[in-house]
Amino acid sequence: MKHGSILVTGGAGYIGSHTVLQLRARGERVVVLDDLSRGFRQAVLDAPLVVGQVGDRDTVLRLLKEHGVDTVMHFAAYTIVPESVSEPLKYYGNNTCSTRTLLECCLAADVRHFVFSSTAAVYGIPSGGIAAEDTATAPINPYGTSKLMSEWMLAGVAHASPLTYAALRYFNVAGSDTGGRIGQATPNATLLVKVACEAAVGKRAQVAIFGTDYPTPDGTGVRDYIHVEDLATAHVDALTYLRAGGASTTLNVGYGHGFSVREVLASVERVTGKRLDVREEPRRPGDPPALVARADRIRSQLGWQPKLDDLDTIVRTGFAWEQRLLREPW
Ligand code: UDP
Repeated sequence: MKHGSILVTGGAGYIGSHTVLQLRARGERVVVLDDLSRGFRQAVLDAPLVVGQVGDRDTVLRLLKEHGVDTVMHFAAYTIVPESVSEPLKYYGNNTCSTRTLLECCLAADVRHFVFSSTAAVYGIPSGGIAAEDTATAPINPYGTSKLMSEWMLAGVAHASPLTYAALRYFNVAGSDTGGRIGQATPNATLLVKVACEAAVGKRAQVAIFGTDYPTPDGTGVRDYIHVEDLATAHVDALTYLRAGGASTTLNVGYGHGFSVREVLASVERVTGKRLDVREEPRRPGDPPALVARADRIRSQLGWQPKLDDLDTIVRTGFAWEQRLLREPW
């Protein structure tokens, strides 16, 4: 059966661009919609890119029709937890309201499948620091709430129409393309692995540990770090599943085990051979102590098989990318 093309919103961003690479390697027809507010033209390589906003109904409708889109992968969003705490309406506008417009366009254009970038932040502070898909959602910051509201809209739309979806709740993405072509280029990055790799290449002087008094084994925050290529593969697997008639689903995407901030920094020192200048600071607003996935469902439902489940490998690819960015800034 011949499939339509895939609209990838936010395809010039970190996770979206890695997914575009894999989709194109499989011979899928892809069109990227990105406003380049946080994404990079270079990240899409030679994939078709339309510069515009997800909340712009006319642009989206035209794209869906002109490109014969039958599947939307929706990555475009603001994703920085502390920023969402200080500027909540920016997050509800760009993440929630824009998703509503996008869904309206999908219905108007008879889009069949929708793959949504959700987040483990929908769980807030789950008991024991571990979240399964049926763990109660209770976000503790506007970022998580903005994504949870989108999940709810998606569920309502799927109930009322033939559209099927996969909502993927990402844990902590890190690392970069093992082929060295693309990576995360965000200025003023806040994600731990990237920040630490930037310090290792000398781009920043110090690394802060936000909170050393958490109820975790070494007092620092624990997260389930997943390589961006394995996360991208989850989207490709979700596409295959939905096309085969799979029912709408919500899935954690993580490896199912966590590392503390101190363990991550130790890995960066081990892999890079550099000593980091580490400063201990107070907790960061909006951060849960621990957040690790129960990650069985995605393996059984999609047949997802991670290939890069190794902290040092994640760090190695992230570090290689920072070295390249230093030589050739984006
Ligand atoms: N973190 C840190 N220093 C940093 C960035 C992050 O100590 O410079 C901690 C943060 O408090 C959390 C973990 O590292 O415990 C992961 O944070 P990140 O921002 O990478 O992702 P998040 O879990 O907020 O999505």
